[in-house]
Amino acid sequence: MKESSQNNHRLGHDKYFHQRKQMVQTQIVSRGVKDQRVIQAFLKIPRHLFVGEELVNQAYDDNPLPIGLGQTISQPYMVAYMLEHLKIESHHKVLEIGTGSGYQTALLCELSKEVYTVERLSQLSLEAKERLTRLGYSSIRYKREDGTLGWDEFAPYERIIISASSPQTPPTLIKQLSDDNGILLCPEGNEYFQEVVRTIKSHGRIQKDNLGSCVFVKLLGKEGWEQ
Ligand code: SAH
Repeated sequence: MKESSQNNHRLGHDKYFHQRKQMVQTQIVSRGVKDQRVIQAFLKIPRHLFVGEELVNQAYDDNPLPIGLGQTISQPYMVAYMLEHLKIESHHKVLEIGTGSGYQTALLCELSKEVYTVERLSQLSLEAKERLTRLGYSSIRYKREDGTLGWDEFAPYERIIISASSPQTPPTLIKQLSDDNGILLCPEGNEYFQEVVRTIKSHGRIQKDNLGSCVFVKLLGKEGWEQ
C-alpha cells in the first residue's frame, strides 16, 4: 500500500534483520522463489513481531508456529511460494481469507494497492489489527466473519488468497474474483493430504491447476469444513 512505505520507513531495520536475511536465503531463495518484490517484502516485515514473546526466538525458523486458539502463522516458505504464484501487481485489490497473526496481510500490503482481510475469530482479528496499525499499515480493511462467503461489498478482487484448507475452493469466492485474469489460491484437501489449487478466471472461463502439496489449518465455514 502506498502509505505503508512512507509511514513505516523504519521497518526492516531491527536487530533481527540478520536472522531474517538468513531465513530468506536458506528457506525461500534457495528453494527457488525468484520474485524480487516478494523477496524484498520478506526482508522488510519483522516476523518476530507477529508471534508471542515466548516464540520470538523461533520466529525465523522453517516451520509454522502457534498463534493461539489452535491456529498457526504459516511456514515462511509456504507463504512465499503462494505469493510468488499469486503474481500480485502494485495496482491490485487483494482479498485475504484467514488474517491469523496478520503477517501475510503485511506482505500483501507491500505488494498491492488495497488489502481486505477476513478472519472468523474476533480475538485474532483484533490482535492483528492492533499489530498492523502499530507498524504503520493504516488502510487495511478488516472483517470478523466467515470468510468462505468472501466480502461482497468490495468485489471483484484481482487476487484472492485463502490461508486455510478446505474440501473445495468456495464457489462464492470464485464469484468475487475478477473476470480479467483473476487468480485465486486455495489449499484443498482433507486432514491427511492437501494441495494448493490455483483458479484463474478470464472472460467467463474458469481454469484450475495444482501447485503442489501443503499443510494448513482448517477453513471452517459455510463453504469450507463444517464448524
Ligand atoms: N495468514 C495467517 C495464517 C493464519 S492460519 C498468518 O500469516 O498468520 C489460518 C487462519 O484462518 C486462522 O486464523 C483461522 O482462524 C482462519 N480461518 C479459518 N476458517 C476461516 C473462515 N471461514 N473465515 C475466515 N478465517 C478463517
